Amino acid sequence: MKKNILDLTSTQLKTYLKTIINQSYRINQIIDWVYIKKASTFEEFTSISKDLRQKLDNKFLLRSLKIVKKEQSIIDGTIRYTFQSADKKYFFSVFLPSSGKNSVCISSQIGCPVMCAFCSSGRVKHSRNLTRSEILEQILQIENDTKEKVSGVLFMGMGEPTLNYNNVSSALSSILSKKEFAIGKRHITISSVGNVSAIKKLADDNFGIRLAISLHATDEKQRKKIIPNNFGFKIEDILNAGKYYLKKTKSRLTIEYILIKEINDTAADAHKLARLLQRYGLLNKSVQINLIPFNSVKDVSFNAPTQESVLKFKNILKLSGVLANIRQAKGIDISAACGQLGC
Ligand code: SF4
Repeated sequence: MKKNILDLTSTQLKTYLKTIINQSYRINQIIDWVYIKKASTFEEFTSISKDLRQKLDNKFLLRSLKIVKKEQSIIDGTIRYTFQSADKKYFFSVFLPSSGKNSVCISSQIGCPVMCAFCSSGRVKHSRNLTRSEILEQILQIENDTKEKVSGVLFMGMGEPTLNYNNVSSALSSILSKKEFAIGKRHITISSVGNVSAIKKLADDNFGIRLAISLHATDEKQRKKIIPNNFGFKIEDILNAGKYYLKKTKSRLTIEYILIKEINDTAADAHKLARLLQRYGLLNKSVQINLIPFNSVKDVSFNAPTQESVLKFKNILKLSGVLANIRQAKGIDISAACGQLGC
């Protein structure tokens, strides 16, 4: 079976190419076709001889995902893509258009073992991690389909990215590389529900990207209701890992907090959240809370908070010195908003 060329890092690809070509400028041209010009077939490698193109075609694939469904929001232009992998599995990505800065929200696993109670991805049985090529291809295929440049990447689609650390970090290196995707580190965010050991590794690897921790609760009992498989890490460990991340990377930290009616949206919760940030040294301008009003999901019995309680929650945080934002749902009419990426 042919290997996807994007599963090789550019260094690995270079090493392989040296075994079949002895001109280094040709090798660089091939790498440019793959990563800079983003060709989707070997036929497009027009500066390369037909013979060499054929050799590459015999050994590698350039694309292995199929877009099987595409839905566009009539409210904000957000596009939800359903991808099918070569082994006939399905996963999702979202294109978030914005004048001058388009972003994509991409998946890292098929299904999600964390099974957050509010999230439809968590209801899809986890079957495997996405490969490096499947992660990168989501960006390439969306750019090709929309004919738009992507300049921001959110690892917030299906799956917990830190559970697929090797493939996600390898893809990250390509996304950041000036000779490959060339997307700036401030425009890349990886989210985690609080996999403490992986957050520390991400800090030590120091990609400098932004980290989003999905906290969603102010005590362990409440958190267990919202995130049943939370790796056994306590809120204390998670916030300390966030502090470690900031110290190591000098980047930004976002604390994601989904507001669910009568579960975690009271004034007392808002005060507790502010106190938690203070206790763990996270009350500073590098840390922001993203408040996400719950988006309805089929077969989930949670309810959306009232607008009044969302504003009240935000005001309490602000008065306590916390930077807080209410995240506007994108693609709500096509089930592309936070927690809605399921089958
Ligand atoms: S919110 Fe993220 S971690 Fe939780 S189930 Fe959904 S995809 Fe998995």
